[in-house]
Amino acid sequence: MRYLTFSLKSESATRLGVLTDDGIVDVRAAIEDRWPGDAPDSLLSLLRNGPDAWQRVAALVGEPPAVSRYTLAEIRWHAPFPRPAKNVVCLGMNYAEHIREAAGAMKREVRIPTAPVYFTKAPTSVIGPFDDVRVDRSATQQVDWEAELAVVIGVGGRNIPRDRALRHVFGYTIVNDVSARDLQKQHLQFFKGKSLDTFCPMGPLVVTADEFGDPQNKAVKLRINGVTKQNGHTRDMIFPVEVIIESFSKGLTLEPGDIFSTGTPDGVGMGRSPQEWLQDGDVMETEIEGIGVMRNKVVDEKS
Ligand code: ZN
Repeated sequence: MRYLTFSLKSESATRLGVLTDDGIVDVRAAIEDRWPGDAPDSLLSLLRNGPDAWQRVAALVGEPPAVSRYTLAEIRWHAPFPRPAKNVVCLGMNYAEHIREAAGAMKREVRIPTAPVYFTKAPTSVIGPFDDVRVDRSATQQVDWEAELAVVIGVGGRNIPRDRALRHVFGYTIVNDVSARDLQKQHLQFFKGKSLDTFCPMGPLVVTADEFGDPQNKAVKLRINGVTKQNGHTRDMIFPVEVIIESFSKGLTLEPGDIFSTGTPDGVGMGRSPQEWLQDGDVMETEIEGIGVMRNKVVDEKS
């Protein structure tokens, strides 16, 4: 299943959709007369309904009434979780080549971590897959890109062992972990520089785990104005998805709708010589095999 969050161009309310070969199915409209109680109208509410509900939805949207289908031209895309319930948990330094380029840029020695490095992005930083990244130039001059595979937790839990970890995954999406490098450096901690408004494009789809397949076998790419900057592969993660879930859930409860962004491969602007920062008008395309492409324009915002 390929889930999305959308609105009709004439309305602001978001809806839960499934992308099919014949257009977008409005999940609630398609199933509500056959659903006991309130049919899910958002991805988060669907996840909180649990695995039995996911199966029922998959079966019911198979033959929806024609009225609940829309074409791509009729909709506006939103992030799958327009406002996640919690911060997005990110992995820092999860690809060796990215660690080398970052160490070079910071003139530090290369140290491969022995445990996953976590930081988070504020829920308020999330925008849709085709929305503008709006840069407040009073806050930052060094804005960088990071293409990443993101993992959506479907079944909560604590102390989840590695060999069961992928059973807790609902699906996968794309995150561009847009980063203010000057703020990262100034504040000696990643959170502020990673959490500016609009710095977390997410989407366009959440592809369910059964359809996505092995999360360690996907190409990760990012282009700026059509020029390839990142061309990585999830097989190169230092800590694969199942290890991230095992490690993070030790003594810490995961809940449906929690999101992990699994780190970026090499090719970010900070690691280039000379360094490259995003400029007003640049267009980022972030692509992951099996999910699709996000397209986000950078727009300078006069504060
Ligand atoms: Zn990142």
